[in-house]
Amino acid sequence: MTLTHPAYGRLRPVTSTASVLLANNPSQMTLQGTNTWILRAPGRSDCVVVDPGPEDHEHSAAIARETGGDIALTLITHHHQDHTGGIERLTELTGTPVRAMQREFLRDSDTPLADDEVIEAAGLRIAVLATPGHTRDSVSFLLDDAVVTGDTVLGSGTTVLESRDGALGDYLASMDRLLAAASGRALLPAHGPDHAAAEPVIRYYIQHRQERLEQVREALRELGADAEPLEIVARVYADVDKSLWPAARSSVEAQLAYLRS
Ligand SMILES: [Zn+2]
Repeated sequence: MTLTHPAYGRLRPVTSTASVLLANNPSQMTLQGTNTWILRAPGRSDCVVVDPGPEDHEHSAAIARETGGDIALTLITHHHQDHTGGIERLTELTGTPVRAMQREFLRDSDTPLADDEVIEAAGLRIAVLATPGHTRDSVSFLLDDAVVTGDTVLGSGTTVLESRDGALGDYLASMDRLLAAASGRALLPAHGPDHAAAEPVIRYYIQHRQERLEQVREALRELGADAEPLEIVARVYADVDKSLWPAARSSVEAQLAYLRS
């Protein structure tokens, strides 16, 4: 029987090299949970892991089991806990080296990930694309037939933006970059279902962001140019559950910084 998303605790093959192990940490922010991607070239026993997921011994044990502990390298898409919390346990269990944009997550390596770097590991070629916006340290990983996008593009729903100045400008540039790279590739996101074609999903995200931006512009016209972020959230995100308003506020702040700059 073919497994479908979400398949907790079971390794689900997605492309010829990528399989996913879904962590059991569902929430409004993580959707069905964190996707840990296991990348294995045909005929190889070793592999590359992307995002060990949250601190959850059961999930770490499942990664160790499904990889046979033979992990040439573990890569991190960005610093959030639901992606990095499992680093400690996974390195204990398997001894995997870990690479990330931020030094604090490096294990058995001195070299943070660099934009445009091409990693060769476990018989795979993986290009690193800096895709800031969701966070400053967000990266995507380009494979021959797929792109692993972390939280920059999700399988469903929308991405929360950092509230800092410049986040939205960064995000839109990242989306253009991903769009240019995504043609003919599958989308392997950190949350939600994967998609056989990345391109239409990325286009949808860009369109959604432009629509929200237009709604924020409109709210500013009605509420006045120095409206408070929360007033704008109440208007623009009226369709969104109130428990998500703090996240929406962060995205609105990013949009305000973009519009006011
Ligand atoms: Zn995140």
